[in-house]
Amino acid sequence: MMTPITSFAGKKVAVFGLGASGRISAAALLEGGADVAVWDDQQNGRDKAAAMGLRLKDLQIEDLAGFDSLVLAPGVPLTHPAPHWIVVKARQAGVEIIGDIELFCRERAKIAPQSLFVAITGTNGKSTTTALVAHLYRSFGYEAEVGGNIGTPILALSPPGPGRVHVVECSSFQIDLAPSLNASYGVLLNVTPDHLDRHGNMQNYAAIKERLVAQAEHAVVCIDDAISAAIAERLRKAGGPITFASITQPTIPDGIVLEGTRLVRRTAGRSSPIADLAGIASLRGRHNGQNAAAAVAALGPRGFDVETVQKGLASFPGLPHRLEEVGRRGKVLYINDSKATNADAAEKALLSLTDVYWILGGRAKQGGIEPLKPLFSKVVKAYLVGEAAEAFARTIGEAIPYEFCGTLDKAVDAATRDAEKSMTKTPIVLLSPACASFDQFSDFEKRGDKFRELALAKIAERPRA
Ligand code: ADP
Repeated sequence: MMTPITSFAGKKVAVFGLGASGRISAAALLEGGADVAVWDDQQNGRDKAAAMGLRLKDLQIEDLAGFDSLVLAPGVPLTHPAPHWIVVKARQAGVEIIGDIELFCRERAKIAPQSLFVAITGTNGKSTTTALVAHLYRSFGYEAEVGGNIGTPILALSPPGPGRVHVVECSSFQIDLAPSLNASYGVLLNVTPDHLDRHGNMQNYAAIKERLVAQAEHAVVCIDDAISAAIAERLRKAGGPITFASITQPTIPDGIVLEGTRLVRRTAGRSSPIADLAGIASLRGRHNGQNAAAAVAALGPRGFDVETVQKGLASFPGLPHRLEEVGRRGKVLYINDSKATNADAAEKALLSLTDVYWILGGRAKQGGIEPLKPLFSKVVKAYLVGEAAEAFARTIGEAIPYEFCGTLDKAVDAATRDAEKSMTKTPIVLLSPACASFDQFSDFEKRGDKFRELALAKIAERPRA
């Protein structure tokens, strides 16, 4: 499917950056009747575009003054560390610089301004919340189109229209390129330091994220960090419709909050239950409480139909590689958290689990696993793989037993052997590496897929208890 961009018919548009989203943008503009020229610094992108029949034009030598717009891929630096040459050139020529989400917004304004459009941002939890919002809307009978930063480029989705909701994960880079982003529901999960290399400073980074909620018809803001709380307060004072969500302040008068493990709606200081998340494997951990609270808030008035919401939450399959339950061998539970490529994410896993046989390592990030020391008590034993093994062993020291395993298959063997001897009810073999995968795998997905395969083989060896 594709959303043709008819709102640029007859316009001259340059598209720079020919990854999947750039190529689809060019095709959607062409389909809608625009005059499109494409370019990329890399031969590979140019070849793929040419194979699709797109018209290549060397924008380095081309005069940009004749163009109405430049559509930029979100990976091309707009501001930091330095604007890319195409950005400098477009600015000099006075050509507007926009991204694919902006194209979608202008098209939606033209063909289906009333259609449902949920845009989600935050430093962490974007993909999970995006998937959960889509799943909940499906429980209400909507056709949900899911895309943006989560994977499928937004213009590769079906066009907006009645009975359909577009649920779109937005990185700050994408928001930066979407000046008229006006979601029906704009969701901000949290703002913590990240990507400062590409945004310069925290104020700039936060201001970009704030625009997504400030320009939405209805804002949803989680108020659990200082920056997001300040944003929520500004929006509340400005008077637009806003729903607060929180996992740290269960007594706010109005909003969706987490009380213990229960998701609760607060209305004028009174609580009414929504769902108990305790039994929902795909929403383990308080961080997922935040994601769930925000997702329910993004349902708007539909969220009052508690029965449907409960069913929707309980049937959420979760996303692969994020505390993904692979299965059980006897009482031993295998969990794949390969997406945990840093200590922050691994911390969420250890906070959510106990009796952990912890497989970790890979290519270490700065700071290693120092911040996780207070959580070592959750771990029965650590199984170290990859380049980071020696350094992690030094950090662990005498705190807990550990074993050098080198590779994932040896680690799964060793962890399974030990977990089977456990006297506790649910020993957990957890892959939560706190590291990038690049020393042994091309990406975290490949690493998680390998772990799942190894775990499933262990499970198949032995029938269920
Ligand atoms: P993103 O798309 O923003 O990277 P994901 O939903 O893919 O987020 O989750 C990535 C990791 O971030 C998870 O494995 C978990 O460790 C952590 N995480 C998820 N949700 C939250 C949250 N609300 N707050 C803090 N950390 C979170």
